[in-house]
Formats: sequence, structure tokens, C-alpha cells
Amino acid sequence: MHLSQRITTLNGGGSDGWGVFYRARQMIAEGTAVTELTIGEHDIRTHPSILAAMDRAATGGHTGYAMVPGIAALRDTVAARIHARTGVPTTRDNILITPGGQAALFAAHMAVCDPGDTALFIDPYYATYPGTIRAAGARPRAIVTRAADAFLPRPEALAQAAPGATSLLINSPNNPTGVVYDRATLAHVAQTCRDHDLWLISDEVYDTQVWEGEHLSPRALPGLADRTLVIGSMSKSHAMTGSRCGWIAGPPEAIERLIDLATNTTYGVPGFVQDAAVFALTAGDELEAEIAAPFRRRRQLAHAILARQSCVGLIPSQGAMYLMLDIRATGLDGEGFATALLETHHIAVMPGESFGSAAAGHIRVAMTIEDDAFAAALSRLCTFAADLAALNTQVAQ
Ligand code: PMP
Repeated sequence: MHLSQRITTLNGGGSDGWGVFYRARQMIAEGTAVTELTIGEHDIRTHPSILAAMDRAATGGHTGYAMVPGIAALRDTVAARIHARTGVPTTRDNILITPGGQAALFAAHMAVCDPGDTALFIDPYYATYPGTIRAAGARPRAIVTRAADAFLPRPEALAQAAPGATSLLINSPNNPTGVVYDRATLAHVAQTCRDHDLWLISDEVYDTQVWEGEHLSPRALPGLADRTLVIGSMSKSHAMTGSRCGWIAGPPEAIERLIDLATNTTYGVPGFVQDAAVFALTAGDELEAEIAAPFRRRRQLAHAILARQSCVGLIPSQGAMYLMLDIRATGLDGEGFATALLETHHIAVMPGESFGSAAAGHIRVAMTIEDDAFAAALSRLCTFAADLAALNTQVAQ
């Protein structure tokens, strides 16, 4: 039977750079111990106090259909949090609760793009972005950044890509690079959106994972609140990846329409999950800091290890649970290096190529295993890279 063009072309074709990940999973299934530094998921589980709140809500009967836009308590809590952190007046009318940030990304593009519209995104990018845009019927157009610019988009690249586009998707703190957009970059992003009448879709799911500097939400910039949809999630801030709870914050007229979309697609998020999210978000900043702490620690460990060698370069990053490493001195591309590392040392990392062309020659390391094992794996990775680089130099001579 015929399947729609939309669904059969979702992945864009070609190699998606996820071969290393699947090979690692296959090795594990066959009984090989593999150190996985691949997926962006905490090595801790959801906090017992959040689970207890979920349990209370579920056994207390909150298991029926929940209000499609989200329960009032959660919409209010998310609105108050955003208002307090950004200074932008925000009420429940600005908030739609979604089954995670991924569903929010899809809904946001559905809300602003007509079929065939051009939706911009920044390369390197979180792996689902082009497919999400295609799923919404729009055409993805990448704005390619450079390692030398810490993968921040240049103003001229933004201005060049913008004419004729409908939306621009940015992500700070960034997956895969860990880079946090500075004020100047966000000012250029905002200017581009105003100049070219673009919607800004701002993926801020890592907003609690900032190790240096501060997270700035572009919705707070002049003239942006009316043209910005912010994507938020409980997944990273509260180690609730499996609970599927996130949100879109935006202008009430957009949220009203997005509620229509939710009615006809997801039909809301489980009430007991939303109750648990209210509990988590009102539990105080300490809980968020506790959940983020292991990544902060491991980043410090990584900095110390990387400072002792000169073969692997670190992209200067300030947030999120990842490190983007430049392994071009080895003479291999990201995929080649990641494959060799997996086969030789049973350490799995993501090739930069999995996140777009800009990150070729790099690898992404997720800081998602216990400290000692993480430090040991990173040290081994550096030694392996140094050996390859030495070989590479010999060959070149
Ligand atoms: N955006 C980014 C940048 C991500 O890394 C992820 C998950 N890895 C998501 C959105 C989606 O997260 P979730 O659906 O779990 O909220």
C-alpha cells in the first residue's frame, strides 16, 4: 500500500550518522561491555520525591483524560517560572502543556509554517530537527556555523538565509555543542526575526544546565514576545525523560490554535504526570541544581583531562550535558574516529556528522555516566586520539 510522501521522506535519506550508536547497542546485546557516551539521558532516575508525587496523584484518581491545554496548576506554575526567570509577563494563556519538548517542537512548526514554507535551523543541530520540520510539511533550511565561531551563527549567515523563510529554530544551551548563546548572538537573531518577519522557535530544554554565564531567553528581547514560541521540558531539568511532559510558551492567539492542534493529535498529557511536574517545579531550585550537578562535576573533570593533552580540541561550551570535541588531528572524520574507538576500546560516542555537516571532524561526548568511569573513558579516548594523530603525522611525513 502507498505510504505518504511526507512520512517516507521524513528522514531526508542518506547516512544519518547513527550507525555507531546502533552498532554499540548491537555489541551490548551480544554481551560486550560498552561504555556509552551517546544519548542525552541522565544516569540517575527521576527523583523519588517526584515519583512519590506521581504515585499520590495516580492512586488518588488523576488517571482520566486531563484538560487538553494542560491542567491549570501546571500552566500557572510554568507561566510563573518563565515570568520569574525572564521578566516577561506570562500567564496560563501563554502556555500549552505537551507530551515532551519533541511534541512541542512539532506543534510549534505546525503552528507557524504552511505546507512548503521554509523553516530555518542552525547546523549542528539536535538530530530530529529537519525531520520535525518535514513532518510539519515545511522545508528545512540549515544555517551552517563554524567550529572556529564556537558554532554560533554569524549575523551575515542569518541575514543571508532569512529572506523568504517563515521561522527560525535555535537551541541554547545547545545540543550537540554545549554552547550557550551570548547576548550579542541573540540580539542578531532577534534583529533577523524582526527584519524578515520570522517566527522564532527557541528550544530551551537545557535551560537549567548552564555552567558558565547565564541562560538568556530571546522571548525577553524587544519585540520578540509576539513572535516567539519557547520550547520547554521536564526531561532534562528534572530527569523526567520518560514522563513526556513539556510545554510551548507563546502569544495567546498562537496557544489558542495550538490547543486545537493538541485536541486533534495528542489529546493532552496524563494528569498524574502533570501533578508530578507541578510538584517538581515548585520543589525549589535546589532540586534542579542537584539534578544538574553531576554534569557540572564531569565537565570540570573533562576540562582537567583535556588540559593535559593537545590532540583533542574542546569547543568552548558553557552548558548542557555534552562536550563537542575536535578530533581532526587524528586524520579521521567523526564517524571514522567513533567507529575505531568503539571497535578498539568499546567506547561509544556520537560522530559530529550525526548532527549536521558543520560538526564533521568532531565527536559529541555525553557526560552521562558515573564520574570515575567517565574520566577513565575520556582519558582512554585522548590516548587513542594521540596515538592516531602520531600515526597520521608519520604518514604525512
Ligand atoms: N530539544 C533538544 C535540544 C533535545 O536535546 C531534546 C532531547 N534530547 C529535545 C528537544 C526533546 O526532549 P523531550 O521530548 O524529552 O522533552
